[in-house]
Amino acid sequence: MASVCINNVQKHYGTYHALKGVSTQMSDGEFVVLVGPSGCGKSTLLRMIAGLEGISEGTIEIGSKVVNNLRPKDRDVALVFQNYALYPHMTEEQNMSYALRLMKTPKNVIEEKIGSAARILNITDLLKRYPRQLSGGQRQRVAMGRAIVRDPQVFLFDEPLSNLDAKLRVQMRAEIKQLHQRLKTTIVYVTHDQIEAMTMAEKIVVMRDGAIEQIGSPLELYDRPRNEFVAGFIGSPSMNFIPGSVRDGLFVANSTTHLPLPAGARVDVATYGIRPEHLKLDDAGFPAEVVVIEPMGFSTQIIAKIADTLITVISSERLVLQPGSTVHLMPHVPAVHLFDRSGLRISD
Ligand code: ADP
Ligand code: MG
Repeated sequence: MASVCINNVQKHYGTYHALKGVSTQMSDGEFVVLVGPSGCGKSTLLRMIAGLEGISEGTIEIGSKVVNNLRPKDRDVALVFQNYALYPHMTEEQNMSYALRLMKTPKNVIEEKIGSAARILNITDLLKRYPRQLSGGQRQRVAMGRAIVRDPQVFLFDEPLSNLDAKLRVQMRAEIKQLHQRLKTTIVYVTHDQIEAMTMAEKIVVMRDGAIEQIGSPLELYDRPRNEFVAGFIGSPSMNFIPGSVRDGLFVANSTTHLPLPAGARVDVATYGIRPEHLKLDDAGFPAEVVVIEPMGFSTQIIAKIADTLITVISSERLVLQPGSTVHLMPHVPAVHLFDRSGLRISD
């Protein structure tokens, strides 16, 4: 196990500036998720930690040792990819033992490590099978097993669940989290999926356009996003953003819609943010036109419209509503997020 320290790291691909000064620390044993839209530089940063990509500027430390000039195999990290990268002509057992055999690890040690990893991952019965004889989820487990047997200082995961169907993804999410609870090895996990980030991470690093937007625990980011980007990216369905301005202590979204503000709110609010679960149906609330009703079973999702802005509401009740009808919605004022013209959050 080891900490990972990223100090002002930059990456240039020719004239393209892919990472623009990224600094963050991962503590020993921590589960850190790098999340952000496709193309924001997550894989680049992970590959730089692994040693597969050069570092243009800045330093990366693993266990307080600068690794900029160390070869990948000398960094003591194990990388698990989205596409598994298993050797098709090797059985599960041979795939998992490959790196150990290269290192001339004694046979009995290899057998013990493979047996233990296979037990952890529940793939003991599949050891003699070839990748083509395995399902997607089983292949992903073998890829993880190959990383586990190396007993690295740090596990690096790059979108490992992207090729799995939705149900299996949810299951593997829990399995990887259990794996971390058991092994307690530092994990740096890359995904574009904010639900994976929220459910698995101890610490989330939100990235955009080659820079870090915010670092925090899942609920810190959910409750106190630093700006509109993080507020909209974290949480599903997304936070509602309603443009307008403050007048006489209320937020005026259009000539007819007045929204309540927390006491003492500043006058330079340009956007009113409210999560779907923080809007309640209430006759005293503001009017909105129902556009679409989505019954989810355990809840009902309503897409409604105020002026030109579509908003989403989640109600735990089973509602019968007609499209085109009017509902009245009351924001839960303590949960309102206010943003200034530049998109920075100004409420507490
Ligand atoms: P992510 O993993 O967040 O989707 P990447 O780290 O793969 O993003 O890529 C970040 C940016 O760098 C993208 O715009 C991508 O096109 C660019 N990029 C990645 N690898 C290379 C490369 N080898 N040469 C040039 N540009 C690259
Ligand atoms: Mg990527």
